[in-house]
Amino acid sequence: MKTTKALRLGLAVIFLVSSLLAKVPQPEEFLGFKVGADRKLADMHQIIEYYRLLDGTKGRVKVEEVGLTTMGNPFLVAVISSPENQKNLEKYQHYQQLLADPRRITDKEAAKIIKEGKTVVMINCSIHASEIGASQMSMKLAYELATSEDRKIREILNNVILLLVPMHNPDGIQMVVDWYKKNLGTKYEGGRMPWLYNKYVGHDNNRDWYMLTQVESRLTIKVHNAWHPQIVLDMHQMGSRGPRMFVPPYVDPFESNIDHILEQEVAMMGTFIAAELTAEGKAGVIHSTIFDAWTPARAYHHYHGGIRILTEVASVKIATPIEVKFEELPEALRKSSVKMPLPWKGGKWRLKDIIDYDYTAAMAVLTNAARLRECWLQNFYRIHQKAVSRKKPPYAFLIPSEQDNIVGVFKMMKVLRLGGVEIQRAEEPFMADGCQYPAGTFIIYLAQPYGGYAKVLLERQRYPEIREYPGGPLKRPYDVVAHNIALLMGVKVRKIERPFKVDSELLTKIEKPLGRVEEVNHPFGYLWRYDSNDDMVALNRLVKKGYRVFWAAEELEIAGQQYPAGTMIVVNKEGLKDELKSLSHNLAVVFKGIKTRPPIKAYQLKPLRLGLYRSWTASMDEGWTRWVLEQYEFPYQSVFDKDIRKGNLRADFDVLILPDMSQKSIIEGISEKEIPPQYAGGIGQVGVENLKQFVQDGGALITLNGAAELTLKQFYLSIENRVEKLDRKNFYIPGSILKVLINNNHPIAYGYGREGAVMFRRSPVFSPKEGQSVIRYPLHNPLLSGWVSGEEYLHDKSALVDVPYGQGRIILIGFPAQYRGQAQATFRFLFNSIYYGVAKLGKF
Ligand SMILES: [Zn+2]
Repeated sequence: MKTTKALRLGLAVIFLVSSLLAKVPQPEEFLGFKVGADRKLADMHQIIEYYRLLDGTKGRVKVEEVGLTTMGNPFLVAVISSPENQKNLEKYQHYQQLLADPRRITDKEAAKIIKEGKTVVMINCSIHASEIGASQMSMKLAYELATSEDRKIREILNNVILLLVPMHNPDGIQMVVDWYKKNLGTKYEGGRMPWLYNKYVGHDNNRDWYMLTQVESRLTIKVHNAWHPQIVLDMHQMGSRGPRMFVPPYVDPFESNIDHILEQEVAMMGTFIAAELTAEGKAGVIHSTIFDAWTPARAYHHYHGGIRILTEVASVKIATPIEVKFEELPEALRKSSVKMPLPWKGGKWRLKDIIDYDYTAAMAVLTNAARLRECWLQNFYRIHQKAVSRKKPPYAFLIPSEQDNIVGVFKMMKVLRLGGVEIQRAEEPFMADGCQYPAGTFIIYLAQPYGGYAKVLLERQRYPEIREYPGGPLKRPYDVVAHNIALLMGVKVRKIERPFKVDSELLTKIEKPLGRVEEVNHPFGYLWRYDSNDDMVALNRLVKKGYRVFWAAEELEIAGQQYPAGTMIVVNKEGLKDELKSLSHNLAVVFKGIKTRPPIKAYQLKPLRLGLYRSWTASMDEGWTRWVLEQYEFPYQSVFDKDIRKGNLRADFDVLILPDMSQKSIIEGISEKEIPPQYAGGIGQVGVENLKQFVQDGGALITLNGAAELTLKQFYLSIENRVEKLDRKNFYIPGSILKVLINNNHPIAYGYGREGAVMFRRSPVFSPKEGQSVIRYPLHNPLLSGWVSGEEYLHDKSALVDVPYGQGRIILIGFPAQYRGQAQATFRFLFNSIYYGVAKLGKF
């Protein structure tokens, strides 16, 4: 017995030793080509397989599958550190958690942790899949870290725990590589792909870092929230004809809720990378240009104690080299400057260059993280100390628990909670800023580790006035300037400016209240108020199951209670009661039995055939629309150029949606010079005529935001876009949230109050001489969050117009109602438009 046991043990040891000694192939041995070779790419499967091979190497690498991507592929993170550190990962993770929350430790304990702890670095590769260099480079980086005995590498392994995400978007990497290989050797080699490199959101996957709508964002956050990295390196590529590489510092404005320590650390790390690249003779590295740090949508880390280092390397044609002549570079880049001391001389630029620059940058970050280990930990602790001991206004945000849109309240709290925000519930009534609040009110104190994160998302943004030159236009921000989630989600919050006291409990779980069914004997049917997005889901499910569902078109009174127009009513039928009970188990909907047929007019809401235009220009807005429709259970079909060109659309569809695109890209699409013929060209003029015919035949056409242009110009509507010809000096709203006034007696606005908030981004402003204006901008002060110049052009103009046309109608939604899956408060303008499009008014 003993011998067998000893034998087994011996075998186990031999196996362990041999697996530790087993030679892991270099990436080139595994792939059969050198990483970065011209026209060669590792695809998602190869990268995953290679990481699986690396798992366990020399006790330095631990590869984890964090979860599955949107399309069901493995999402990997490689945890890389010295074998000694690997044995103590739990301890170091715990250290990070303690430093991230100084309320849990004394300064003395912190000092010990800072002395013993490790800098945690996360490297996020190729979130934008066509910016593919980093994903390829990561194999080389992982191999070196796993196998090299170089002193510098050992120093990194001893002092740093690296969380290496080789592909933030594995689905996209596969699509990009497949497309590239398919077109290799043709005139389309290295050209654009006719669909998004993420099932839904394409490039916007990097605008999702606070709403966290996408699977990959949530998987990354899972790793982030467990490890609290001090440094996140986010590796991208940019255009080909500018600098060779961008590193921070960023340009102004730096969003003011980000700790100043981080601001300086960003600059320090950025210029350290630049110095290392320059020391290797790598030219054309620039800092302090183009990219700002205004929005949390791209920088979760800045609000969680860590720096976000964005790098952008000049692209090639995926893996095909390009040639850039020195004379082709912008003049400012042809000479030395303080931002870019070593200009690039022009010439060939290849995938290998991208990988070399990326590799040096990654090594620079790791070296800095290792050498300044104690500084990183010390400052990380200080940042959180400052956060938890905040003693200045505002002190808190309150979320009243009695709101019509209670679904929005809980969704918002869930999103905040994902970002680590602590939410309390008042256990007693209390006073704050001179107002009385009931027990049950939700409280977000800003003195907490991620108080700044809560604040940036709950306060109203005032984008600072930075002009290109005195008296000149506003300096163009890198992206939108408003990110107030309370406004985006339609939730009322109160900012509290003075300290207050109340007994409260920390919410450990955030779950929305469930619905219920209030019975009556022999009901005619059931009604439910239309207050939130859940109510629409209930409607969709009932319509799908064949129940007769109506929208009350007038106010009605039942048992002494008033119900506004837009209240939903389902007529009783065998099985309905059980159906409603089951709906109320996961939707916050209260179904109320009614005894008799309401004596009012109503719209019957029927299953409809919905089409969403999907262009080969790979519109992100189309992707977001698709995502939103699926989330809220609207059946739809994608409609392609050929379908619209073919015509007879009314035979197949009741309602068509055009996502936010210019008329040029809808009509013309992409030229055959750029894309294979089967994807070239848009709907063409024949398609425009077919769309007209579709509406004339009784169909409903919904245009989102900029797509209104097509109908205004091609359908000759008597509606002008008031701001079309204005330049940036006169009118500029770079992604702001604006107040609107709503005609909530119109079905498109059912379920809303008289006032609301919409995202305005490259939006039209309608001056209608026909149709009915459903939403308009107020006569003064439209700005709620962000920036507005030239607000007078908005005054009393329309944001949503319903235009009868032939037997059908055109609904111009002049703002991105489904904006990046974030503007949840305005989703229902789109949902209502879909149902209203072909609904007929009648009696029950
Ligand atoms: Zn990018």
